[in-house]
Amino acid sequence: MLKDFGAHPADRVPKAELHAHLEGTIHAPVLRKLAARNGITLPDGVLDDQDNYLWTDFNDFLKVYDLATAAIKTPEDYYDLTLDYLERVAMEGGLYVEILVSPDHVLNLGMALKDQLDALIQAIDDARERFGVETRISQTIVRHYGPENSVAAAKAAVEHLHPYITGFQMAGAEDAYTPADFRPAYDIAAEAGLRCTAHTGEWLGPDSIRETLAALPMVERLGHGVRAIQDPALVKELAERKIPFEVCPGSNIALKVFPTPEEHALKGLWDAGCTITLASDDPPYFHTSLGAEYRFAVDVAGLSVPDLYTITRNALNAGFMDETTRAALMMRVSASEAA
Ligand SMILES: [Zn+2]
Repeated sequence: MLKDFGAHPADRVPKAELHAHLEGTIHAPVLRKLAARNGITLPDGVLDDQDNYLWTDFNDFLKVYDLATAAIKTPEDYYDLTLDYLERVAMEGGLYVEILVSPDHVLNLGMALKDQLDALIQAIDDARERFGVETRISQTIVRHYGPENSVAAAKAAVEHLHPYITGFQMAGAEDAYTPADFRPAYDIAAEAGLRCTAHTGEWLGPDSIRETLAALPMVERLGHGVRAIQDPALVKELAERKIPFEVCPGSNIALKVFPTPEEHALKGLWDAGCTITLASDDPPYFHTSLGAEYRFAVDVAGLSVPDLYTITRNALNAGFMDETTRAALMMRVSASEAA
């Protein structure tokens, strides 16, 4: 949580995020706790003395991410790290979170998918009860593991459906294969009733976004999508089609998708009328949090507090949740705005 939470006008706005990789949300003290409990010595190069994650560039980030994830061994670990994250996000005003989980990570750990999902579902119920935050799960395939693997992961995902498991998407290296190569996996998910998004337009430019939307028509939102800014015609089209963007400024700045915070696409996309939502991606890795992303929108992109309310409503409208839940969360946003 932000050390001076409450000191900024953005802090009082209720928040929602559609893009937080569960294994990327692990707070360093929790990671140390899980490692100790599982008898694992964290390798050098994962955390420094101040509990910062250590990485140098995107490939190194993926390596450190995998090293850290290896400390997760049991469903109880998943329960603890999920509840911890949901508490932290709720403390900053988070009402709604979509957590991205990869069947591949779970299967690599030798854990049964059902055991992991049962732990997440319990954590989601307990977080609602204790912290008032609502959560849904998005099953995530890892693009650089290849299309064949993605079909296996999609099949495993749809064998374990639950009302909290509502989303499906792909993450990982954006230049691995083509979007069309993942159509079979997306078809499996969409036929099972999962709603779809995709990481696109983060590392590659406008063509990647166009290709993704053309090859995967079930994709409703853009994971990042920020490089659309390089193509005004595409920005105009996305604004007109009201395709929601899952914008993660802290991640983009840490990974140097944009050279400086001031050059980040948020302001340009907002001014062009795009449907913007804000999210923290892998918050401790990028020294960010959902609260910090909302502050960034004001301090760097020049948005107003009323704009932030619009952003939260955008996220709730675009969230993969049932209508009763959406209506209840919208009422909490309206009550906050009226207060
Ligand atoms: Zn992501």
